[in-house]
Amino acid sequence: MKTYAYGFPRLGKQREFKKLIEGYWNGKVTEEELRQGIRNLDETRKSTYTRHVSSYPQGEMTLYDHMLDTALLYGVYRAETLEDYFRLCRGKEALEMTKWFNTNYHYLVPDFEGKKPEFSIQTPVWDRHEGIEENAYLIAPFTFLKLSKGLKREYFGDALKELTALTISYIREKGFKSVHLDDPALVMELTDEEWNWVKEAYAQFSDLNMPVNLFTYYDSVDRLSLLFELPFAGIGVDLVHDRGENLKQLGSIRTNKVLFAGVVDGRNVWRNNVLKTAELVKKLSEKFNVVVTNAAPLFHLPVSLEGATLPSELLEKVAFAEEKLKEINLIAKAVSGDESEGREWISGIDLSFGLNEKVKERVGALSSEDFERKVPYQERKKLQQEVLRLPLFPTTTIGSFPQTEEVRRVRLLYRKGNLDADSYEIFIKGEIAKAIEIQEELGLDVFVHGEFERTDMVEFFAEKLEGIATTGNGWVISYGTRCYRPPIIYGDVERKEPMTVKEIAFAQSLTDKPVKGMLTGPVTIIAWSFVREDIPTKEVAYQIALAIKDEIKDYEDAGIKIVQIDEPAIREKAPIKKRYWNEYFDWAIKSFRLCCSSAKPETQIHTHMCYSEFGEIMDYIVEMDFDVISIEASRSKGDIIEAFEKVNFDRQIGLGVWDIHSPYVPSVEEMREIVERALKVIPKENFWINPDCGLKTRRWEEVIPALKNLVNLAKELRNE
Ligand code: GLN
Ligand code: ZN
Repeated sequence: MKTYAYGFPRLGKQREFKKLIEGYWNGKVTEEELRQGIRNLDETRKSTYTRHVSSYPQGEMTLYDHMLDTALLYGVYRAETLEDYFRLCRGKEALEMTKWFNTNYHYLVPDFEGKKPEFSIQTPVWDRHEGIEENAYLIAPFTFLKLSKGLKREYFGDALKELTALTISYIREKGFKSVHLDDPALVMELTDEEWNWVKEAYAQFSDLNMPVNLFTYYDSVDRLSLLFELPFAGIGVDLVHDRGENLKQLGSIRTNKVLFAGVVDGRNVWRNNVLKTAELVKKLSEKFNVVVTNAAPLFHLPVSLEGATLPSELLEKVAFAEEKLKEINLIAKAVSGDESEGREWISGIDLSFGLNEKVKERVGALSSEDFERKVPYQERKKLQQEVLRLPLFPTTTIGSFPQTEEVRRVRLLYRKGNLDADSYEIFIKGEIAKAIEIQEELGLDVFVHGEFERTDMVEFFAEKLEGIATTGNGWVISYGTRCYRPPIIYGDVERKEPMTVKEIAFAQSLTDKPVKGMLTGPVTIIAWSFVREDIPTKEVAYQIALAIKDEIKDYEDAGIKIVQIDEPAIREKAPIKKRYWNEYFDWAIKSFRLCCSSAKPETQIHTHMCYSEFGEIMDYIVEMDFDVISIEASRSKGDIIEAFEKVNFDRQIGLGVWDIHSPYVPSVEEMREIVERALKVIPKENFWINPDCGLKTRRWEEVIPALKNLVNLAKELRNE
């Protein structure tokens, strides 16, 4: 039985990737050291593959992002030096970033700016294919074009044909003996026209006298049989996250091509029942020439379980990237009749752990009333205004204030056990007090406590909630060199005690202005964690929502009048195929409503989302029944306003007037432009003034002047 794997994390066990590249940016690593270091990392990665599987792609290493590298290879952008390369990644001239399918990885988006594309093969400054002959890794032309922006529909078909021809000549020129093509965009819901373009363009691969394998993942391919008709040697399919649709189609496909059966999850950490999977593989092998592989690239998982700080019961239930390679190997062994290791591997997976009857009963007892606020919005609005007495154009921020060197240093001391809890609390209170004083001086209307105690908006809650484990060193790249540690939701989620009330109440005790209670919503906690699969995700979401609901009750008892529930991941978590959106948004929206349903009518509920492509999801968002929403708008060039024009939006809204992703301090006039455009659509009574997002990555030197301008803008607007 042959085995294969792809997409193993490039990060390295000690996050060497991050250290090398950031070291280079800071001038501590020379170009030569960087190149050598990255080559070494690639070698380590290869030897990890080799230990477990028979084959894998070559040239998967990038210095930042695969889509950027592909754009450089095809001459869409030019970079003569590493400086040029990184300029495209970060800073003023950087390409836009967006989420890669429905994952939390962000890629750099090539932009054709509406022009007719012209391609030419260029040798990139980071040549991933240097010295490679076998199984060269490439992003397929269709995925590359489909995920780019600014490519007019009228050019798409020709562009795809041309780019495919160019890819073929590149493959020839390089003398590759075989090729791995990553083509995940083929799992999207494509039009007939798009399928025809793919068919015509990819027919050209018949010119090559060598095996080209095409890999799809993250979902099913709607026309799987068509892929098998194309001139590829093998097709990779996701048999884990395909809702059974790929498997069903395979039933009626006759082919002598290789089926790369993606049977090991690349996106979640649960151990594979390798013996059961082996049965499936055996069945498939009766009809197909099967190679066992992962169902999606493994870079969504931490590198290895080595050194992970997980409860021991959990350790025997999970597998990170390296252990997923092992699973591929165990499945192949079991198929060949050797089941002993496999049996041992799965011995712990079914032992229950972290279950909680009380929580289950609570979710089981929910009825439709639990998803409704008792008083309709228009009445709530009046009650809230009586309590809050906010001026027109109220000003606020999104939650976090600068996480200075010092804040991070002291928090780390505390987390490592080198600072006692009391001293840490005094320090955090000091930071909160400073933040309140600054907001007082600036004259903002609604305050925040600053989130100094939080490392990460999901991990912070994961540490406080029962049923969720944090991993210690389970790092995953979210973009470039930025990493996060997704927690693992393994059991029933319960709040043991208030999670955030102490800090918020302390902040409120220092001022007469309302301080917002700051929470992360259920969908975002789920989207940025590894989630149990023994119960529907919807139930997990409701369990988390109940914990948040209880927290809101405690806020109210502590005199907090405004609560913000951040849901930045609600769009990203939506399935790739829109035909499943109703089902997803149904529970996503209900989980939000469940958080708020028992809040007093005079408690003002805010939500925050950090992106501006609202067009497609607007109809769902309005169902969330919040009182106020803040969203990113400063870079959206007005698209967002259009989205609001189309629905009958009666809530209050804060459109971000300051792009907090850059250190630039916008003037009152620049901020005003955004507001004026919006005021054509949104009545001024409903309008809030705030930045795009939280300010934790900014410095106080930028925050104070920018917020001054923001407050001045509100004052001017009130006087008009
Ligand atoms: N409240 C969070 C903050 O300000 C929101 C961050 C986010 O939306 N990503 O940091
Ligand atoms: Zn945000």
